[in-house]
Amino acid sequence: MTREGEVGAAPDDPGLVSGQFRFFDAQVVRTRRLGPTLTRITFGGPPLAGLASGGRDQSFSLFLPHPGQEAPLLPDRTGEGWYRAWQALPEDERAVLRSYTIRAQRRNPDEVDVDFALHGTGPDDPPGTAGPASRWAAGAAPGDRVVLLGPAFADNRSVGFRPPADTDWVLLAADETALPALGGILDHLPADTVVRAWIEVPHPQDIQALPSHPDFRITWLVRRSGDGGSPLAEALRTADLPGGTPYAWLAGEAGTVRALRRHLVREVGVDRARVEFSGYWRRGTSEEQLRAEALAAATA
Ligand SMILES: Cc1cc2nc3c(=O)[nH]c(=O)nc-3n(C[C@H](O)[C@H](O)[C@H](O)COP(=O)(O)OP(=O)(O)OC[C@H]3O[C@@H](n4cnc5c(N)ncnc54)[C@H](O)[C@@H]3O)c2cc1C
Repeated sequence: MTREGEVGAAPDDPGLVSGQFRFFDAQVVRTRRLGPTLTRITFGGPPLAGLASGGRDQSFSLFLPHPGQEAPLLPDRTGEGWYRAWQALPEDERAVLRSYTIRAQRRNPDEVDVDFALHGTGPDDPPGTAGPASRWAAGAAPGDRVVLLGPAFADNRSVGFRPPADTDWVLLAADETALPALGGILDHLPADTVVRAWIEVPHPQDIQALPSHPDFRITWLVRRSGDGGSPLAEALRTADLPGGTPYAWLAGEAGTVRALRRHLVREVGVDRARVEFSGYWRRGTSEEQLRAEALAAATA
């Protein structure tokens, strides 16, 4: 049996995680600064021949080494037992686990691009505010080793952007952490799709080239430094939206995303089933803490 986008894997393969994902060893091939906030890290290596990105907002789990480690420490990389085995290791030794987006995938050679939003790593940032992934990305160099838990099939559950067939137009809103996903969505959409997109970034120099078509209307918003507030909510409140049936995709800081969703559902009257939303990070909370909260809620 084969599935769309299958790359050399059978769905009953015991190396698969949740039937769709697999661990891939990879290393940094090159890095490129895209602006003050974003840095593009290209990963490569023969195992990536088995990775099959579904494009759009395809996310994956990234395992990183701690400073001083040569490679991320993962005990058991086959099947479903990996999470418990990883959790059982001391926190300061086991690989750092974070969620990221595949911005692009290429073949010959097998490579993926991941755009990291750096936070807390600048010379003026207060010490201790950078998370481990941001710190790792700021210092990444060719040859650095990582592990990806990513899709073995292009048709997989880690793609969230799925507009229903009766969609008339698409609304997108993102901050810098979800800009890679938004870029992947624009790459995927037919040129005649009616798109209204709002993207919030910290600096004017973070604005980047994205696919451009007459019906793609993209508005860049630069966050005012220091106040922590997001200009996205205000921009959406005053926006002149097209008529017809929308599909909305919202991603970024969790509090902002929640406010945007509430506005679209309550004030604009968008059917909540047509709003795909995802908190990519939460102010003041690390991804470990978010994962622990989600686990506690699921087992309560
Ligand atoms: C599905 C999904 C896809 C994602 N894709 C991407 C992607 O492609 N690129 C990307 O850059 N991020 C992406 N993210 C967000 C990224 O996983 C988080 O920003 C993550 O918290 C970064 O880890 P860290 O170790 O740097 O910080 P953590 O240790 O998790 O957090 C440390 C502190 O930094 C704060 N923090 C975290 N991120 C930011 C930020 N961007 N700005 C300011 N403060 C922050 C936290 O609130 C916390 O107080 C994605 C998240 C999800 C869920």
